[in-house]
Amino acid sequence: MTTPVYLDYAATTPVDPRVAELMGRHLTLDGIFANPASRSHMPGWQAEQAVENARRQVADLIHADPREIVWTSGATEADNLALIGYLRANRHRGRHLITSVAEHKAVVDTAMALEAEGFEVTWLPPGRDGRVAPEQLREAMRENTVLVSLMAVNNELGVIHDLAALSEVAHAGGAIFHVDAAQAVGRINLDVKRLGIDLMSLSGHKAYGPKGVGALYVKRHPDVRIEALIHGGGHERGMRSGTLPTHQIVGMGEAFALAGAEGEADQARIAMLRDRLLDGLSDFNGIHRNTTIDAAVPNILNLAFEGVDGESLLMALRDVALSTGSACNSASVEPSYVLKAIGLPRELALASLRFSFGRFTTDADIDTALSALRHALKGLRRQAI
Ligand SMILES: *Cc1c(COP(=O)(O)O)cnc(C)c1O
Repeated sequence: MTTPVYLDYAATTPVDPRVAELMGRHLTLDGIFANPASRSHMPGWQAEQAVENARRQVADLIHADPREIVWTSGATEADNLALIGYLRANRHRGRHLITSVAEHKAVVDTAMALEAEGFEVTWLPPGRDGRVAPEQLREAMRENTVLVSLMAVNNELGVIHDLAALSEVAHAGGAIFHVDAAQAVGRINLDVKRLGIDLMSLSGHKAYGPKGVGALYVKRHPDVRIEALIHGGGHERGMRSGTLPTHQIVGMGEAFALAGAEGEADQARIAMLRDRLLDGLSDFNGIHRNTTIDAAVPNILNLAFEGVDGESLLMALRDVALSTGSACNSASVEPSYVLKAIGLPRELALASLRFSFGRFTTDADIDTALSALRHALKGLRRQAI
């Protein structure tokens, strides 16, 4: 069995070997393994220093102060902490949250949990490209709106929100602005000051760091107070208790430093890979670009293949690891809610594939995927006729 070509970087990225090497030095007795909260000995101080160095690496990438970074277990926890933590802490100011139906489940399900708790949520429908327009947000703002939550880069489509314009509308309406930036690190500029972001969720494993670690950027400002969800030793200035996982944290820090140093060059190279894939399919009819390319990061490309069944296509593409937008459950195959939200007909949504590329994708990988895809399409379309 050959190892499949990996084109699912939006689901997770492999850890960069430079990151893995550093992480390995933060686990064993001969390395930096102590509890970073141990204040009474040298090994503890060294671990604390490693954590603080990583905190600065993450802060530097987004132009924040290190004191504005709260470590979490990932972007899911950061999204929960941002939404639940902020709304609960600001109940007295208002109970209204605005988000989009095309957000990641970590935001969608959290907002639904808040609705069940008695908060009000406005669910904005995105446009055909998957983005919420600033004008739409302006119309949805209410007197009691306290928080607007919109993602930087959509994980299924790759489209980029106009964060500067959206934050301006949120602030003009007296709300603060949360951004899920899990897919954006190393892909777009994330200067929180310039973009007017108050809370921002980050993940290690979408940017060549390890799984199981993330962070929430919490702007240092009296208006941006959040309530903790996890109580304990009062770590992270009381916002998130629990012993800090030193190896995970140094991994995320190093990955973010590499994103700053190499992200732009990665993306330029990846744009050529994406174009190579599109060129290689240009002689086929009936391939729809669900991704609005001009508005998207080059590393995510969502395509719909008219006249074929998505599951059969995926089966025929066993040598390529990628994902359909659809969530399978035993009873039925449901099309992706994001593709539904952009108005894609059910059959096309079910026949869509997300290609996502990364730092280690090569021309040869694209060519392998292309030949498998061309072969599968020819076969499946012949059957369909
Ligand atoms: C992957 C992802 C998450 C979840 O991140 P974890 O670190 O895996 O919890 C949240 N939001 C978006 C947009 C993502 O792509």
